[in-house]
Amino acid sequence: MDRSHRKDDASVALPRLQQRKTNSHKGDYGRVLAIGGSPGMSGSISLTGVASLRCGAGLTTIATPKSVQPLVAQVEPSCMTIALPEDRSGLLPMHARDQIAKVAKNSDVVAVGPGLGRSHGLDMLVQDIYCDLKTPMVVDADAINALGSRENPLAEPGGPRVLTPHPGEFRRLARDRELPKGRWTDVAADMAKRNGVVLVLKGHRTTVTDGEQVYSNETGNPGMATAGAGDVLTGVIAALLGQGISAFEAAQLGVYLHGLAGDLAAKTIGGDGMIASDLLDYLESAFQQHR
Ligand code: AMP
Ligand code: MG
Repeated sequence: MDRSHRKDDASVALPRLQQRKTNSHKGDYGRVLAIGGSPGMSGSISLTGVASLRCGAGLTTIATPKSVQPLVAQVEPSCMTIALPEDRSGLLPMHARDQIAKVAKNSDVVAVGPGLGRSHGLDMLVQDIYCDLKTPMVVDADAINALGSRENPLAEPGGPRVLTPHPGEFRRLARDRELPKGRWTDVAADMAKRNGVVLVLKGHRTTVTDGEQVYSNETGNPGMATAGAGDVLTGVIAALLGQGISAFEAAQLGVYLHGLAGDLAAKTIGGDGMIASDLLDYLESAFQQHR
């Protein structure tokens, strides 16, 4: 799109969440449904679930294939879990759709993708819920790859959608398009505007765009180049979406707080051996610092 019509970077102010009200209860702060995990990758969806609670979600439920559900249930007692059907490889089959739709109806936000794995059935399942569910959704990791296998990956979102691709995932989403060096933001802004979604291009300087606005994040450090860091971000954005701010604002504030948690962690424990679960420990401090 024409850059002159876009609100870029410095003019896009960071949103703030309202203070929690004294007379409130967990139902006021959002019910997050996190869908993901598979044999060998169950930790990913736990990172997402715990991150959402650390960012203020009132209730978080992790829905995962039945053989990994007992593992996921042991990670954090505050997360509820649901065992979904699985295929012979332990991945979610297309017919998990009805159960997912039922739980999503009672959720304020869905986060899908971390540790999901890949199969034809999963591609169809993800495409189906992307288009059919009205619930706001954060789409990450293999759920992005599942959409990337469609003719028009981002078409017909059923409700507000935030997609969080790393560079490899973004290449798959933009598969028909040239990605000229230095112009990925323009391509992403155009894709976001045409499909009515928010794109989060993750990297050293993560960019958030809905096609009208572009926010370039300045928190974060190379210590975050570690397995699972993106799974944490998915939970952070889901929690913020569930607390009633817009998809663009949730993505923007989410990348900022996620990066700030990484900076606080690096200050205390150093960046070289930082792991994704360290980020979880600093999310609350990042929140306090932004208040
Ligand atoms: P993923 O590749 O999905 O695990 O996502 C990695 C997360 O860590 C994203 O939120 C990135 O923005 C962040 N990250 C990775 N490398 C860096 C870096 N060198 N500087 C700042 N943030 C980073
Ligand atoms: Mg990732």
